Amino acid sequence: MSSSMLLSPGEESHSYEPTPQDIIAIQNCDLFLYIGGESDNWVSEILNAADGVRALPLMDYVDLKLETLTEGMEGEADGDYDEHIWTSPQNASVMVSAIEQALADIEPDGADVYLQNLENYNSQLETLDSDFREVISSAKRNTLVFADRFPFRYFADQYGLDCYAAFPGCYMGSEPSAATVVFLIDKVQSEHIPVVFYIEFSNEKMADTICEATGAKKLLFHSCHNVTKTDFEKGETYLSLMHSNVLALKEALN
Ligand SMILES: [Zn+2]
Repeated sequence: MSSSMLLSPGEESHSYEPTPQDIIAIQNCDLFLYIGGESDNWVSEILNAADGVRALPLMDYVDLKLETLTEGMEGEADGDYDEHIWTSPQNASVMVSAIEQALADIEPDGADVYLQNLENYNSQLETLDSDFREVISSAKRNTLVFADRFPFRYFADQYGLDCYAAFPGCYMGSEPSAATVVFLIDKVQSEHIPVVFYIEFSNEKMADTICEATGAKKLLFHSCHNVTKTDFEKGETYLSLMHSNVLALKEALN
């Protein structure tokens, strides 16, 4: 079975809209995989119009959390479920199991191979999970600051981390208010937090401001929405990016 991605490397997932070619690809596919959150509102119309396309909304398989605003965050909690389910390795494991079952169902001849691949991948996810746990259990602190959007609710809850950020996960608005920046600067200074995070595709301006004011180090924490063209060509994957996050987390918590 061959696979194709609708989102090109470097493309912003929250503003993605399908091209006519994308719609044809969906109509002709054997299995359409999607997350099923607020960024995927465009999907239902296409699935309704397409006849008998098998679709797998991965949010159906995990315990969902509402998008919430934590202290100091601006923007609005719109009452939607947080769609960033994949940021927890446990959820990633549930997601790949659902995909494996669907593939084996469509192509029973390949079931042994799909199962083997699933087991291999799950053992790598278990290693990733234990790497995160090891960093957290031996850490000096438990608080992270993101000078950015915060698509890490599932990750933070999984590992019991306290996180402060400027905006909720899918926020696509403007620059932060002065009050938000001041709140985060105070948090970094009062708790002597050594690292301020930004996420991929960020303009990093807010992180720069907070790092200049506090002397904290600026580091990327990758939320794995999408990769740049360069990272894609380098062969970066969910697992490689999350392992970079393990290293970044270690610096931030010590
Ligand atoms: Zn998002």
